[in-house]
Amino acid sequence: MSLISVEEATHRIISGLQRLPAETIALLDALGRVLALDIHAETAMPAHATSSMDGFAVRAADLPQAPGVLKLAADIPAGVMSAVELGPGEAARIMTGAIVPDGADAVVPVEETSAQWAAGESVTLGAEISILRAPRPGDCIRPAGADLMPGQAVLAAGTMLRPPDIGVLAALGHASVLVVRRPVVAILSTGDELAEPGQPLAPAQIYDANSYALTTLVQSWGAVPVRVPSARDTLDSVRAAFHAALAHSPDLVLSSAGVSVGAYDVVRSVIEEFGAVEFWRVNLRPGKPLAFGRISGVSLIGLPGNPVSALVTAELFARPALAALGGWPAAVETVQAAAGEALRSDGRRSYLRVILRREGGGWTAMTTGTQSSSALLSLVLADGLLIIPEGVTEVAPGTFCTVRLLRPLPAAAKQE
Ligand code: AMP
Ligand code: MG
Repeated sequence: MSLISVEEATHRIISGLQRLPAETIALLDALGRVLALDIHAETAMPAHATSSMDGFAVRAADLPQAPGVLKLAADIPAGVMSAVELGPGEAARIMTGAIVPDGADAVVPVEETSAQWAAGESVTLGAEISILRAPRPGDCIRPAGADLMPGQAVLAAGTMLRPPDIGVLAALGHASVLVVRRPVVAILSTGDELAEPGQPLAPAQIYDANSYALTTLVQSWGAVPVRVPSARDTLDSVRAAFHAALAHSPDLVLSSAGVSVGAYDVVRSVIEEFGAVEFWRVNLRPGKPLAFGRISGVSLIGLPGNPVSALVTAELFARPALAALGGWPAAVETVQAAAGEALRSDGRRSYLRVILRREGGGWTAMTTGTQSSSALLSLVLADGLLIIPEGVTEVAPGTFCTVRLLRPLPAAAKQE
């Protein structure tokens, strides 16, 4: 099998994936979840004209000029539907959010009247109040439907819900919400040399970094990771790990390591036993030995073992796969940045780890130091991945390149 392009690999991975079914969950569990249907306002908000101030509901025509004196006919707190209809010369004390009584067409804030009250203090009906400023009709009144009209579009399907979205759903009376089920991702490291962090390290062992980084990476996207204990580099151990992964009914399996041409790279053989390898080896750096296949009908991305390669290829291939399953936006943010130094590539599509700095009104990209695919620090420091297209082996300083962001753009500290 020959090298395929990043685009073709992405296409082949996501073409077999469909958005997962929807499920109903409690509103307070919906933060970060993907809305499965469009939400419209069913009724007007507010449903009735309401006061936007604490003050007095009046008839503007009674007060052609200020000051004027009115007689108190009602006291209307929020949450009360008053039966009173204001007649000529009458006013009603009214609180913010309370329904404006029939007959009234303006509210005068308490600060513009002779009245004042302590918290909890009632008023005497029939008392006189001076209105110090002449209102215009509509003053301090929120008409019915001012916030939302019946039928108005509020949230679109596919929205990843944020706190204001949860608030508007609550305001519309939804106690629960229909969201796309979150993809379950089984994550599995392979390698005889792996030890669990927290355990003593035998000579020649290394700690398993990949499953920790990958578990939290997919979690950060909104998927549900399930870590399967690491497999050794034997057919039996990888078989057992695949069975353990499949027991969680995952929507995607992410394995790392064991897919290259090493004598003990058995993962591809086991994928063939459980299903088929669709392709392996992609024209990119880091991450060429990437395998994709299906085991018992479940898509499996066999990521390379080197931690940087594993994380970069997860960004490139697992992320769109999970976006397709989870229904969230697949778009990634990029910026154009000038190369801050001479860059080299071997002609494969290269993703260099770079730090972005604001310089001369644009962005300049400096590599994070060693670009070794085992050096996780290169990703720890990186703001983004600078892309050198296939076929290009040298990039002169100052050349504009596309940088795929790995975190929000560096802010003030790095600005000129
Ligand atoms: P492999 O693809 O199995 O040849 O592994 C490539 C490199 O990645 C080797 O140096 C491995 O030791 C290293 N590696 C594999 N798995 C992990 C892991 N889970 N955490 C850290 N390094 C790993
Ligand atoms: Mg290995």
